[in-house]
Amino acid sequence: MSEEDVYTQLAGRVNFPKSRYIRMIFRRLLTPEDAEMVLSLPATVEEFAEKHHIDREKAAEKLDLFARKGVVIPFEKGGVKRYSCVSHVIQVHDATIHGTMNKRYDPPCDDIIETWKKFRETEWFEVLRDMEAAGRFWGRAIPAYSTVADQPDLQPIEDLRAILKNAPGIAVVDCPCRWLQVQRGECDKPTFVCLSLTPGSVKYINDQKIGKQLTLEEGYRLLEECEQAGLIATTGMGDKVRQLCFCETNECIILRPQVKYGYKLWGPSRYQAEVDPDKCKGCKTCLERCYFGAIEMYKVPGKKKAKARVDAEKCFGCGLCAVTCPTKALSMKAVRPVEYLTQ
Ligand code: SF4
Ligand code: SF4
Repeated sequence: MSEEDVYTQLAGRVNFPKSRYIRMIFRRLLTPEDAEMVLSLPATVEEFAEKHHIDREKAAEKLDLFARKGVVIPFEKGGVKRYSCVSHVIQVHDATIHGTMNKRYDPPCDDIIETWKKFRETEWFEVLRDMEAAGRFWGRAIPAYSTVADQPDLQPIEDLRAILKNAPGIAVVDCPCRWLQVQRGECDKPTFVCLSLTPGSVKYINDQKIGKQLTLEEGYRLLEECEQAGLIATTGMGDKVRQLCFCETNECIILRPQVKYGYKLWGPSRYQAEVDPDKCKGCKTCLERCYFGAIEMYKVPGKKKAKARVDAEKCFGCGLCAVTCPTKALSMKAVRPVEYLTQ
């Protein structure tokens, strides 16, 4: 196989054979010989050793290095450990960034994080167009816990504390989208906030040493920290919550295209913010907190200060405005049926 073919095939494994940036990233992480080895997966260590005529120890070393680089994913099937090539663009994006920022191999290819950033601003839009054309939401906002804790019909899959309490495990990693921005001092919000909640993902994070397992109390503290910092809780659609992201809109792989370029990919939560005009003192704190331009100030005859109001069409239901409103003028009300959560 020619050198070009081998990287094209690898990019094809994540459904992006023509991607200039993904081929560039694989080329930085793997020699042509190693790339061919990765293409030969899935396999156990023994099968891999036999296929490539190397001893078991050497095979285990190779597979471990590929996993630390984030181009190979270890998994267990029937009690047997196997290794597969990455198979989805988000998987390879996150795994290779985590391997690099955690310095899991030496020397780490720091430049791939910038290359992924370029990818997110160009070729990624091809995927987003297909996702949008499917005509459904791929994820949703979850309201900040403190703003909906007293809601009578709050469902377990939109109650951030219940989500953590019901999870079989909690592990946290750095946000792969925003990490670089934080390193450069361009974002002052916490970045160690992406939560995985399934036994498999928690094991992967522990084994790969790319994050930390949290107790329930630590998870609750992280929720409070994120809502104060102004990070939007998001997750996938469906009746199970397998991961929680805490995002802003400058770098997030989904919310940036959504807010900056108008894609419709993630839906709002079931809730919407509303302002009690009698309590609003016109301080404008909420204006600063809203990433979606959903709050505007309006003049009230006879009053010196303008008051806030919410544009229902634009509100993402994140609750961040209500968290810091000093007069409790902002509150969240349910505006969508429970079925919306699992559509
Ligand atoms: S933060 Fe509260 S008091 Fe301040 S403008 Fe917004 S709604 Fe009014
Ligand atoms: S108005 Fe803005 S900050 Fe408040 S809940 Fe809606 S989207 Fe979030």
